[in-house]
Amino acid sequence: MMDSDLKCPCNSGKLYSDCCAPLHRGKEPGSAAALMRSRYSAYALNNVDYIVRTTHPRNPALSHLSAWKQEILNFSLNTDFLDLEILDSKEQKDHATVVFIAHLEQNGRDATFTERSYFSKVDGRWFYVNGDAYPGEERNVKA
Ligand SMILES: [Zn+2]
Repeated sequence: MMDSDLKCPCNSGKLYSDCCAPLHRGKEPGSAAALMRSRYSAYALNNVDYIVRTTHPRNPALSHLSAWKQEILNFSLNTDFLDLEILDSKEQKDHATVVFIAHLEQNGRDATFTERSYFSKVDGRWFYVNGDAYPGEERNVKA
């Protein structure tokens, strides 16, 4: 399938070619939220290298790179990326947080989670630092 035919997996409502594709090809995201979206799309498209190169250089996962890349690939291949909701995004000079719900399915089962991700700027570029579970949000709790 051509890029131009594909709806962006980050669920922006735009075409992939007008949304996350330029970032995946090397354009710098204009905000931490845009980086967040493009990482979600990269997971959906099994673009392991994009996940790696937008992760903060000091992330401990980089010290076991090949195992980590395999982990990312396994996660991508075994997950259906249904939807992304950005609930909140706060940016200060060189730091940002983005709260999102990733609507996922694994083997037909709901694997949706809510996370607060931390981003940091290094030499003018945004990187993903890490994330934690965001318990304040209950919309993803199934009755
Ligand atoms: Zn997108």
